[in-house]
Amino acid sequence: MSRFWSAVVHGLTPYVPGEQPKIDNLVKLNTNEHPYGPSPRALEAIRSATNDSLRLYPDPNADALKAALAQRHGVQPTQIFVGNGSDEVLAHAFMALLDHERPLWFPDITYSFYPVYCGLYGVAHKTIPLTEDYAIRADDYLPQGHDKAGAIIFPNPNAPTGCLLPLAEIERIVAGNPDAVVLVDEAYVDFGGESAIALVNQYPNLLVVHTFSKSRSLAGLRVGFAVGHPALIEGLERVKNSFNSYPLDRLALAGAVASVEDEDYFQDSCRKVIATREQLVADLATLGFEVLPSAANFIFTRHPQHDAATLAAALRQRAIIVRHFKLARIDQFLRITIGTDAQCAVLVAALKEIL
Ligand code: PMP
Repeated sequence: MSRFWSAVVHGLTPYVPGEQPKIDNLVKLNTNEHPYGPSPRALEAIRSATNDSLRLYPDPNADALKAALAQRHGVQPTQIFVGNGSDEVLAHAFMALLDHERPLWFPDITYSFYPVYCGLYGVAHKTIPLTEDYAIRADDYLPQGHDKAGAIIFPNPNAPTGCLLPLAEIERIVAGNPDAVVLVDEAYVDFGGESAIALVNQYPNLLVVHTFSKSRSLAGLRVGFAVGHPALIEGLERVKNSFNSYPLDRLALAGAVASVEDEDYFQDSCRKVIATREQLVADLATLGFEVLPSAANFIFTRHPQHDAATLAAALRQRAIIVRHFKLARIDQFLRITIGTDAQCAVLVAALKEIL
């Protein structure tokens, strides 16, 4: 604490990022990174961009990346906003698009950055409980008389549960709240979900946020983007240009464009993660674990006879890191990132020993 802090800083409850240990031989299944490296074409593009041009500012409009993303997703470049990781894209959305008269609605439980941004940007929020099955229910997000959302945000698939809301249900939420911006955070959608980008041309209140950190295996490069109506994008650009006009550096721009252009690598590496997830779910089921249906690159699981914190500690002793959650409304769960087949085999063998 410092007496020089502003009242806002005194009031913050910052997000605590997942552990990034320095030790190489750990099986690191705690922060939902992709187990395989980025596209070799992305790495080559980053290497080639490492030259004298780094003395020059990057393109403030990220035109090449917007063009590549627009083509990939069948929209116009004016419908795309890019930022330094999707956390930063979300921060711009909180600043540019949220109604301060009425609260932001989001699920309980969900990505824990949302309440942190509410604290930072002074946005009131209301949390909507998940169903008994840990799912998001579209009906719970429709206006109930005078009780209307100022805006709505949720990840799809949700984090940390991995549960997917079908596109038709998302459309009910978006269509049912024409006066509220609906932010769909699709950080994990490429591992089995259907993207709501398909709906952006129909609904001017829909903003879909993506990241290069998961399915494109570029968490270290910090690239995210949003797709929506040009008017929403213009709002985000206004905030960006009042804050940091060069959010993506030259290396990030080069790597991100090359990654988008390497569709085959992207598809193959996501398919591999999905196949490994299905195998891991089956292996855990034979050990007596209950696993929530996951469309993400992680699973949310618990064992009826074993405490999640104790299991996580026992795995840690065997150099395997997973996350455990003990939340007010939820039983104890482990969240396990899908690693390589070999890493998941090590995990299953360790759990067999521990149980
Ligand atoms: N949304 C969700 C649901 C996430 O889990 C994460 C990663 N922790 C992010 C957004 C942020 O990802 P990034 O800033 O790396 O793009």
